[in-house]
Amino acid sequence: MAIPPIDRVQDDAALPAEVDVAVIGGGIAGVAAAYFLAKAGRRVAILEKGAIAAEQSSRNWGWCRVQNRDEREIPLVQRSVEIWANLAAETGADYGFRRTGLVYVTRSQADMAKWESWVSMARQYQAHSRMLTAAEARAATPGNDGAWIGGVASPRDGMANPFKAVPALAEAARRLGATIHQRCAVRGLDITAGRVSGVVTERGTIRAASVLLAGGAWSSMFLRRHGVDLPQTSVRSTVFLTEPAPSVTEGGINTPDITIGRRANGGYIVAANNRGRIEVTPNGIRHARKFWPTLISRWNSVSFGAGRSFFRGPDAWAGNWSFDRPTMFEREDMRVLDPAPSPGVEGPGLAQLAKSWPALAGTKAAATWGGWIDSTPDAVPVIAPIDALPGLFLSTGYSGHGFGIGPGAGRLAADLILGTPPIVDPTPFKLDRLIDGSPIREPGMI
Ligand SMILES: Cc1cc2nc3c(=O)[nH]c(=O)nc-3n(C[C@H](O)[C@H](O)[C@H](O)COP(=O)(O)OP(=O)(O)OC[C@H]3O[C@@H](n4cnc5c(N)ncnc54)[C@H](O)[C@@H]3O)c2cc1C
Repeated sequence: MAIPPIDRVQDDAALPAEVDVAVIGGGIAGVAAAYFLAKAGRRVAILEKGAIAAEQSSRNWGWCRVQNRDEREIPLVQRSVEIWANLAAETGADYGFRRTGLVYVTRSQADMAKWESWVSMARQYQAHSRMLTAAEARAATPGNDGAWIGGVASPRDGMANPFKAVPALAEAARRLGATIHQRCAVRGLDITAGRVSGVVTERGTIRAASVLLAGGAWSSMFLRRHGVDLPQTSVRSTVFLTEPAPSVTEGGINTPDITIGRRANGGYIVAANNRGRIEVTPNGIRHARKFWPTLISRWNSVSFGAGRSFFRGPDAWAGNWSFDRPTMFEREDMRVLDPAPSPGVEGPGLAQLAKSWPALAGTKAAATWGGWIDSTPDAVPVIAPIDALPGLFLSTGYSGHGFGIGPGAGRLAADLILGTPPIVDPTPFKLDRLIDGSPIREPGMI
């Protein structure tokens, strides 16, 4: 079975002629920004080519973590986890957020050294993570006799429910006055006298003083059409959800063999035997030089291949498309990017699950799916105004960890658009760092 159903969001039939902010993309980055903009009283339209949360924002593990993040993201993700914790009370909706704690365990001294250095760096931010001894690592992974030498744990981190959270936030934005338009692709920007003046959608043009591009894997292609370079490439990842099974944890556990997270229905979301797959594509080739140092340092966690993504999808060649004809965003097979899961994940993953936790032997998979993860060269997102096109703002490049930071990122994007004091210093998230020729920092995410 492919991905289980995601909560549906009500659509607004009529496209507004004018809004204050047009948001391109109904993933967590776009929806969270729209929520905060609507809360500030702005007229907002969310334009989504497929369905709210149907791409990365529903396909993820649901982890909302400060632990092991790049230092540049720590203040923002800390604010984000606070927002997650308050959203249900603030909006009266269910996001499935729970502070379950997240645990990483290992048999490797090198992992311990990396984590120790992160924990000591993160102390200046009052992060809650702490190192685990071998005995504590065993106690934190009951039923798994993995011979751990130690670990690291963050009791204040947690998980939300990706099948529910972004749709619930979209409905909350809608109640505050935002309009939502699904199956409404944006073909391009309307530009007047060098300034963004709106968006051209498949259903007509909307005038807007500001436009937020939160297009996930599609952002780089979209920007290229307007002469803006965003170094971005994608990695295909595969996960599966089990049927309800006995409890070995109520939170999330990462071991060298397998990663599991308990879902509210008693199933586990599992990643195992799963090196992200990088496919050779025109967009990947274009930006290869910028990704090379990161690739070298993460060589063991990725595999390479080629497939139809060379010709179709966000990393394919797109040319200089016209806005008065259907674009690739409207192709039926691209309305929702739904990459096939990699073979060889589910079967070996279930075997590893049983080996790691004998109590879970016989557990069956309920659904297996793929996700197309967009990444920047330093694995830190871009949340910034685009100087070359006044009126355009970007919130994208979440590099495999945008769900947890999403609410905070939405608030930051809204602050930048509103011109109000930003919740955190936005400097680390500028686009310039990736395109001005200065050396690109290695990812600090572990
Ligand atoms: C298997 C997997 C596991 C993950 N686990 C975690 C995790 O545990 N924790 C975590 O924090 N993150 C995790 N992530 C990453 C996280 O899911 C993403 O970083 C995050 O969802 C990105 O959100 P987004 O809004 O930027 O992009 P998306 O959710 O991909 O949304 C972008 C939207 O823009 C729309 N769009 C694009 N172009 C147009 C256009 N021209 N017109 C209209 N609409 C358009 C798309 O249709 C899409 O719906 C995981 C990802 C995957 C795939």
